[in-house]
Amino acid sequence: MNRTLHAFKGGLKLASHKDQTRHIATRDICHPETLYLPIKQHVGMAAVPCVEVGQAVRKGELVARSQAYVSMHVHAPADGIVASLRDFPVIHPSGLQALCIELSVSERHDDDRLTARGANPADLMRLERHVIYDRIEQAGIVGLGGAGFPAHVKMHEGSLQHVDVLIINGVECEPYITCDARLMQEQAQDVVAGATLIRWLVEADACIVAIEEDMDDTRGALAQCKSDAFELIAVPAIYPAGSEKQLITVLTGLEVPSGSLPIDIGIVVLNVATVVAIYRAAAYGLPLTERIVTVAGDISMPGNIKALIGTPVQHVLDQCGGFDSATHRVLSGGPMMGIEILDPRAPITKVTNCLLVLERKLQPPASKACIRCGDCVPVCPIGLQPQQLFEASRSADVDEAQDLNLFDCIECGCCSYVCPSEIPLVHYFRYAKSSIESLDIDRAAADDARLRFERHKTRLSASESSDVDEQVSLADVSGLRVSELQNQVHDAIARARQRRKK
Ligand code: SF4
Ligand code: SF4
Repeated sequence: MNRTLHAFKGGLKLASHKDQTRHIATRDICHPETLYLPIKQHVGMAAVPCVEVGQAVRKGELVARSQAYVSMHVHAPADGIVASLRDFPVIHPSGLQALCIELSVSERHDDDRLTARGANPADLMRLERHVIYDRIEQAGIVGLGGAGFPAHVKMHEGSLQHVDVLIINGVECEPYITCDARLMQEQAQDVVAGATLIRWLVEADACIVAIEEDMDDTRGALAQCKSDAFELIAVPAIYPAGSEKQLITVLTGLEVPSGSLPIDIGIVVLNVATVVAIYRAAAYGLPLTERIVTVAGDISMPGNIKALIGTPVQHVLDQCGGFDSATHRVLSGGPMMGIEILDPRAPITKVTNCLLVLERKLQPPASKACIRCGDCVPVCPIGLQPQQLFEASRSADVDEAQDLNLFDCIECGCCSYVCPSEIPLVHYFRYAKSSIESLDIDRAAADDARLRFERHKTRLSASESSDVDEQVSLADVSGLRVSELQNQVHDAIARARQRRKK
């Protein structure tokens, strides 16, 4: 507890509103009759369904398979029958639908029917590391703090480089959200087991479990476990201290450079619920099929509830007292970074940490102009110029937006929060990012089409001339891009390893 803490740029001191739920034990709810499982609940490529309509599936069975390095499996959260594969409302700022597996739930089974493989971290640490990595990947675990990045990829990248510090992030800096605080109190032994296991797995020199300074109950529960596998550090409750890069700065004084990842400076950060999910996957073979969700705000039975992935938001809210959509709106996430759920039929996913019910403003504020007061600048934890980013985003000047480091924006909402003109700055930034990403995808598709056309043309002329040598050289050329790319990746990894060794 003597570690020197550091300040990050900007940030805000916010009212926490956590007392509404943090002292209430996590509770189960009745399961819905139907679950909707989006095939993309994570960063990366969507999984591909591996079940057919009418097929009976068992709890924990694979229903959609990862098809790429950065992708993730999806499992059935309950026994049931696949009713359809169709587009369905999902939690997304655009309100667009996405492909889901509709599962008619037949009955519920308890986790303990799944094979126990030995819950003791010491037993697990006698296995080859790749066995544990494989179990994590097979369990479909993504970052449960909201990022949704596949956990096995993050840890695999960590295994390629030296890890100085493993940070277990239990800092829920957004108001209202307490699901991780409850988890750390109620499953402290699993947090400790997970931290011990993962520290060994990524061969980290040190491990820190970070919590907020006013979380006395949590501190007490973890301290009771008396583990020397990690340091328990309480950090000041300044928003967004729980954001990955800001937490690294607070704990180590280091800054992750623009465009870099924490592992580039020898640090791996994992959310505390992710750590528990990893431990349960490694020790018991449990796939990720449920999570704790905070239900808070203007609702009669707030608390933390254990929900099956795929449970409709409406069902969860009905179990917590219900809400009136005419007078209230629901956010997925907290008041700063949350996105409005436009259709409450949308299901809970692996990254849904909070459902926040807020009263609708009777009259939405008229969008006002930027008065160039500059209030948004000092609160930005990244040191960006939000008002300039706003101008670039509004005028769709993608080059200017990228020059202003739009993609470094962590969408924390600090700038919007203080803006006297109530300009929804983050909405502009999200929209600009997704527009640029779609442009990049279009450009990549156009490049790919052009390349294929050129290859086709060259093949035609090669076959016309029946020149065997030419065909051989064409095969080399077409393979060159792939092999060049592979070489570049290997070189980059080797360079990074070398850097870390110095
Ligand atoms: S939303 Fe982006 S620009 Fe605004 S304060 Fe946060 S990081 Fe800075
Ligand atoms: S706080 Fe709002 S009004 Fe002031 S400079 Fe920033 S965007 Fe403009």
